[in-house]
Amino acid sequence: MLEGRIIKALAGYYYVLDQNRNVWQCRARGVFKKKGLQPLVGDVVHFEPVSDHEGWVTQLIDRKNQLVRPPIANVDQALLVFSVKEPSFSPYLLDRMLVSVEKEHIRPLICFTKLDLSGDKDDIVDEISVYQKMGYPVCQTSSKTGEGMEEVLTLLRGKITVLAGQSGVGKSTLLNQLCPQAQLETGTISDKLGRGRHTTRHVELLELPGGGLVADTPGFSQLDFSAIEPEDLGTYFIEIRAHMDACKFRGCLHHNEPGCAVKRAVEQGEIDSRRYAHYVQFLKEIEANQYRKRY
Ligand code: GDP
Ligand code: ZN
Repeated sequence: MLEGRIIKALAGYYYVLDQNRNVWQCRARGVFKKKGLQPLVGDVVHFEPVSDHEGWVTQLIDRKNQLVRPPIANVDQALLVFSVKEPSFSPYLLDRMLVSVEKEHIRPLICFTKLDLSGDKDDIVDEISVYQKMGYPVCQTSSKTGEGMEEVLTLLRGKITVLAGQSGVGKSTLLNQLCPQAQLETGTISDKLGRGRHTTRHVELLELPGGGLVADTPGFSQLDFSAIEPEDLGTYFIEIRAHMDACKFRGCLHHNEPGCAVKRAVEQGEIDSRRYAHYVQFLKEIEANQYRKRY
């Protein structure tokens, strides 16, 4: 009996990477279907070899989590990719993504790309420090100059990572740089559409040279807050989470309540005021959605 991780699922076969970095082409026994289980990319499995590169998957190890888009199990972290220019950095989008990722209990990492395009690097230094102070790892890269690639590889080592970020920020270019076997198409949206890139394709975990696996398909493109309860939103902002236990009321929404420790931390500059403004904005959005659902 051997153990490995499914890195690709295609046409009824599961491709399982073992500890020695060999890939086994496996089929799964009918028993999974009967139990309503579907092996997923990212799953740790036990398998029985039937030749030197083929086998049968016999057991699925319990998942720690499971993403729907892309369909991957056991995701450790999400690399949130933002270009400093073209398109320009959006703190609103970053805060939205952070909520979505924190909600899934996945560790967020922040990656700025296209550093070669930023004339004055001081512009983003302040932005970076806001997130670094909260404890998020932040790296700065340029796929043009190769700057920051070692740093990214270090962050991804030994983990399963999914990239996230709006179109055009340089996700595919970054992946191609990080793992040369990736060969993803890059370019403008119309380029990609023109070449029929958006036809359905399978998800694959790519091996990184320094160790670790990265999904070849980005995730967190739908930043939908409809499943979030207003009283839970604060827990998805790490700096609010750190202060909220000191709030006077249980279930404090950190908005209009007296004796709110979060609002006090904003006034004292311990919580960034723009982050707090986004918190309030998201809270109103969630409340408006709930109101609409009810009436
Ligand atoms: P994706 O949609 O996020 O996958 O973005 P792509 O990787 O396709 O990149 C979009 C465009 O940005 C392409 O024209 C790339 O050549 C360009 N690009 C990506 N990374 C960099 C970079 O570090 N510097 C510069 N100047 N351009 C980049
Ligand atoms: Zn409060």
